[in-house]
Amino acid sequence: MPSKYIKPICDCGAELFFTREEGQVMTYKILKNGMLAKRPVHKGVEFNANHGYLICLQCRKEYEYNASYFGEHKWKALRGDEI
Ligand SMILES: [Zn+2]
Repeated sequence: MPSKYIKPICDCGAELFFTREEGQVMTYKILKNGMLAKRPVHKGVEFNANHGYLICLQCRKEYEYNASYFGEHKWKALRGDEI
């Protein structure tokens, strides 16, 4: 029998949000005077700076972000230990 997926909830009862640092590799031309150009000549691929974690916007508690790697709830967000 399929089990129902339940979204991760904070101890205070509020919904948890997924937080992750994301960035982009930018390439700038060096000008004759040695300064860097204001606009990049190339915007590189976006990357994730870390694995991410879960945060409660109500009480600011943070939890590890877990996901199941198999089974019927594969890749769905799960709450780990409090950070
Ligand atoms: Zn909370």
